[in-house]
Amino acid sequence: MIIDCHGHYTTAPKALQVYRDAQIAGLTDPTRLDNPDAVVISDDEIRESLERAQLRFQRERGTDVTIFSPRASAMAHHIGDAMTSLHWTRHCNDLIHRVCSLYPDNFVGVCQLPQSPGVPPANCIDELERCVNELGFIGCNLNPDPSGGHWTAPPLTDRYWYPLFEKMVDLDVPAMVHVSSSCNPSFHATGAHYINADTTAFMQFLTADLFVDFPALRFIIPHGGGAVPYHWGRYRGLAQDLNRPPLDELIRDNVFFDTCVYHLPGIKLLLEIVPSDNILFGSEMVGAVRGVDPQTGHYFDDTKRYLDQVASLTDQDRRKIFEGNARKVYPRIGKALGAGIASRGAARSSQSGGPPYRAGGVR
Ligand SMILES: [Zn+2]
Repeated sequence: MIIDCHGHYTTAPKALQVYRDAQIAGLTDPTRLDNPDAVVISDDEIRESLERAQLRFQRERGTDVTIFSPRASAMAHHIGDAMTSLHWTRHCNDLIHRVCSLYPDNFVGVCQLPQSPGVPPANCIDELERCVNELGFIGCNLNPDPSGGHWTAPPLTDRYWYPLFEKMVDLDVPAMVHVSSSCNPSFHATGAHYINADTTAFMQFLTADLFVDFPALRFIIPHGGGAVPYHWGRYRGLAQDLNRPPLDELIRDNVFFDTCVYHLPGIKLLLEIVPSDNILFGSEMVGAVRGVDPQTGHYFDDTKRYLDQVASLTDQDRRKIFEGNARKVYPRIGKALGAGIASRGAARSSQSGGPPYRAGGVR
C-alpha cells in the first residue's frame, strides 16, 4: 500500500468558499452575520470535485490512500476571532469527514484546528477530540504562526502549547506543522512562508527539550523539511555548539519529514541526509505547484516518480517511506482504513478519463 501523508481538499465545491466569503464580510457588515449552518453541498458535488483531481491522480500515479485535510492556505487563522475560526474550522473538518465517508479506501482525515492569534492552543482541544473521537480523524495540522506571517506566537517548544500536546499524546495523534496563508507581503505563502515555517519549526525543536517532556509527541515537517536537509551540516554544527543531542537522535521518534520536494535532485538529497525511518511519502497534490515540469513532461508534484527513480533506495526503506512510517506516525490509520480495504480493488478498476484538473489560484 502507498500512503500519501499530505493532501488538502483544494478542490472543495464552491459553496464552502461562498460561506467563507460571507463569514468574512460579516466581520464588518452586521447584516451578513456568520451563520454556522450555512454550507450546503451534495454528495455528488463532492464526488465531482475529487474524481477528476485527487482520485484521478491516485489512480494514474499508483498511490492508494491520501491523508487528507482542509485546504491549508485557507485556514487563515488570522481572520476574525476564535469564534470565526471555530465555525470555519468545523465546516472544513465536517467536509473532510464526508469525503472520507464517501471514499473510505482513498482518504483518511486529518483536521484543521480552530487556532486564533493570541488565543491559547488549549482552545483547540475540543475540536481535536471531536475530530478524532467522533469523525475518525488520525491527526491534525498545527499552525505555528496563526498570525499569518508575523510570528506573534511563542515557539512550539514553549509551555503555551503544552495542553494541546498533552491531548495529542493522549489521543495518540501527530501534528503536521503547517502554516496557512501569509498576510505579510514579504512572504509569499507557498514559496516562502511555508518553507520558512518548516525550517523555523525544526530549529525550535533543536533548541529545547520538548521531546524530553513529551517522548511520544510526533510532528511531521512538510515540504521535505524546508531548508533543513540542504543545511543539515549547519544544524548539526549548531546542535554541537549548543550542547544539544546529535540530530539523528533528536528527531528519531518525534520529527518526520515528508517528500513534498518537487525535483529529483532534492529527493535524492533528502534520502541521503535524513534517516529513512524519518521520511514519509507525501505529494501535497493537488496543491502548491500544479503544473507540468517541461524538463520531464510530468507534474512537479508527482513525487512518487522521483522516489521510483532512486535506484539506491532499498526495498525495505521504500516500504518504510511509502507505508510503514505513516502507520508508525499515524497509528490510528489502521483502524480508519480497516473498513475500506475490501473494496479497494473495485475502486481501482473504475478509472475515469477526462482532461487534467487545472484550477488556478487555490492551494
Ligand atoms: Zn500542505
